[in-house]
Amino acid sequence: MVDTIIRGGTVVTPTDTFDADVAIDGERIAAVGDGESMPEADHTIDATGSMVMPGVIDPHVHIDDMFSFDTYETATKAAALGGTTTYIDFAWQAWVGEMSPWDEPGTLREGIERKRAKAEEAVVDYGLHGAITREDRAVLEELEAVVDAGVPSIKLFTAYEFGLENGFMNRVFEALADLDAFAVLHSEDATICDDRTAQFQREGKGDPEWYPRSRPDYAEAIAADAAARMAMEAGCRYYGIHTSCRKSADVLARYRERYGEEMLRAETCTHYTTLDDSIFEELGNLPMIAPPIRKPDDIEAMFEHLEAGTLDVVSTDHCGYTKESKQVDDWWDSKFGANALQTNLPVFHDEAVIERGFSYPFLVRVLSRNPARIFGLPGKGTLDPGTDADIVVFDPNETYAITAEENASVADFSIYEGREVTGRVKQTFVRGELVADDGKIVAENGHGRFVERESTDWAF
Ligand SMILES: [Zn+2]
Repeated sequence: MVDTIIRGGTVVTPTDTFDADVAIDGERIAAVGDGESMPEADHTIDATGSMVMPGVIDPHVHIDDMFSFDTYETATKAAALGGTTTYIDFAWQAWVGEMSPWDEPGTLREGIERKRAKAEEAVVDYGLHGAITREDRAVLEELEAVVDAGVPSIKLFTAYEFGLENGFMNRVFEALADLDAFAVLHSEDATICDDRTAQFQREGKGDPEWYPRSRPDYAEAIAADAAARMAMEAGCRYYGIHTSCRKSADVLARYRERYGEEMLRAETCTHYTTLDDSIFEELGNLPMIAPPIRKPDDIEAMFEHLEAGTLDVVSTDHCGYTKESKQVDDWWDSKFGANALQTNLPVFHDEAVIERGFSYPFLVRVLSRNPARIFGLPGKGTLDPGTDADIVVFDPNETYAITAEENASVADFSIYEGREVTGRVKQTFVRGELVADDGKIVAENGHGRFVERESTDWAF
């Protein structure tokens, strides 16, 4: 006797699809197999005509800090409705500055405690990256404790007021290599982006079409090149986040070829695979994201590199902002970022599988298996018996238009508003519990848990 059986669906693994039932007992997957071989169950979910996949693992989201008005409650509900069962948010080292919500500097460990305290209402599981924001060598001394607290990935920025210069970044790479931890890089050359921004401000070029030109693709490639080179010299594993363009992906491909996938991994985001810069004319500042949404050829480059394997993961870079905070006169006064947790799976599925003919195993690799393996979540991202029953039941045939009216996020817009997509999330399970059912949250707040991650090797 088990708790639940998901009956009659098509199971998707990283390599295969086949018709099978999935049995859930407690928090784990008990069995995957033929209907006749299944035990009895208290509950049955009819998944006829649906795909049964591991829940999406999103390693790049911003919740409840200077990059997001979302709380853990609103963001995890958006995640659950969108088929995401685990996300990784950021634990910030507090700094003092214009963009900072803090009055005094703090430590990374305080950042972890602060985020964990905010997460009591979560309905899906979550992990944290540490984010270094200051060139203070004291942070190097606390990295070991941060890794031991289940946070083996450290985010470094090359841009913004909390960006690091090469000298300090180099030192962080060495410290991370010693701990077998790894770096997560936001790479854009700050001096180029700041100079362009100042120039456009002087010239009064505040219309949203100017925004992408303020952060050019080569600025991303230059910073990625420098950071990846330093990391490789230090023997530090490197994860390139939100790769947006051909130039930057080509740089990462070169290092990956030379040093191997056990040293360098990278992601792009759904918006870089589905939208081009014509969106600014359509939606104004709403799609303002950094790095910017690029040219049609960059979309092609994202799929070429996903196929070739330079890009391992597709994430959201979810930021929960409202229209009001985005719709300002000049783009430089707008918030940077947009919400996507709820729409990610249907939008990327529609583009990759329906429009471009990629397979369901591909979808499971880039959305679930790869992020689980790279970020040290061995019990997630798979439907293997014994692992966490984090499951999404997905109807691949239903066609509908995306609308922000359904948003659980505090964000009251969608950069995909009106987009016709095929494929809808029917049910989402987190550790055996049904959290979202047919567009409604059915779990109690607080089901979601902090996941202590391990530093696992990248040879897979
Ligand atoms: Zn981000």
